[in-house]
Amino acid sequence: MTVSQARTFALSELKSSPSPLLDADVILKWILKCDETFILFHGEYELLQNQENIFRASLAKRKTGLPVAYITGIKEFFGYEFEVTQQVLIPKPDTEILVENAAAFITEMFSRYSGKKILSVCDMCTGSGCVGISILKFLAEKKIIPCAFLPEVSFVDISGAALSVAKKNSQRLLPLDVQDKTSFVQSNLFKSFAGKDKIFDVIVSNPPYVPYSQTAELLKDGRSEPEIALCGDIDEDGRLTEKDDGLEVIRNLIRQAPAFLSPDGILVLETGEYNALETGRIMEKSGFKNIKIYKDLEGQFRNVSGNLG
Ligand code: GLN
Repeated sequence: MTVSQARTFALSELKSSPSPLLDADVILKWILKCDETFILFHGEYELLQNQENIFRASLAKRKTGLPVAYITGIKEFFGYEFEVTQQVLIPKPDTEILVENAAAFITEMFSRYSGKKILSVCDMCTGSGCVGISILKFLAEKKIIPCAFLPEVSFVDISGAALSVAKKNSQRLLPLDVQDKTSFVQSNLFKSFAGKDKIFDVIVSNPPYVPYSQTAELLKDGRSEPEIALCGDIDEDGRLTEKDDGLEVIRNLIRQAPAFLSPDGILVLETGEYNALETGRIMEKSGFKNIKIYKDLEGQFRNVSGNLG
C-alpha cells in the first residue's frame, strides 16, 4: 500500500470521522516519522508491511471513536509535542489562551518585583502537564525570564497516573535546569497542601467543568477521555452532585484558593463558555476582586481571572 492508497483507504474507512484525511495524515506522519510535506509529495511511497499493519490497526481504533492522539500517544499543544494516555485529557487548542494569560501575569509580576523574587506557580488539575510545562518552556525559550529566575511550578492532580504523564512530559520537553523548577503533588485540590505554608503567586487551572449530563453526551462518541477530568459536578468526597452545572469543582477550588495565594497573587481558570460568567460571580462572592473574563479564539468567554484586591 502506498501513502496515497493509504489516504484513499482512510477516506472510505473513516466515514464517521469529521476529519478522515487529517486523521490519516497524522497517523501516517507518526508511523513514517516524517512531516506533512513528505506525505503530500510522496504519494507513491510504499509502506513496509508492518507499517501498513499498524496503519490498518490505527484506522480500526479510530473507527471506534478513539481520538488520533490516543492512538499515536502524542498531541501538539502550544507548538510542543506532549505525550498522552487515556488517563489524561487530550490538550486542546482552546487551552492555549490559558497559557498565554498565565504567562502574561507571571511576566508582569516578574518585572514588578524587578527579578527580586522567584515566583511560585500552581498548575492545579494539571493532567498531561501541558499548561504548566508550556508556561515554563515559553518563558525560558523566548528568554522572557532568565532561567535562574523562572518561577517554581507545582503540578497538582488528584490522579497519580496523570501526574506520571505530566512528569514524563516535563522530562521530555524541559531542559534539566528548568526541570529543577518543577514539583509534582498528588492532591484533591489543595488538600495535601493544608498546613504546609505553601503560597502561590499564580494559580492556573483547567479543572473539570463540564456538566454531568453533557459529559455523558460527549463520551458517547468513544473519545475515551477520563470522566474525572471532564465532569465538574463532583464534590470534595468524590460524589456526584445534583446541580448539573459543571461548577462544583470550581466552587471548591475558588473557596480553597485564597488561603494559598500571595496577597497580590492571581487565580486564572479555564471554564466552559456556558459557565464562565457564573464562575466570575462565584469568585466575586468568595472575595476576589478585579475579575476579568477572557474570550477564546472563537469569541466565547473561556477564562476567568481575579485577585484578592
Ligand atoms: N472542553 C474541554 C475538553 O473537551 C473540557 C475540559 C475540562 O473539563 N477541563 O477538553
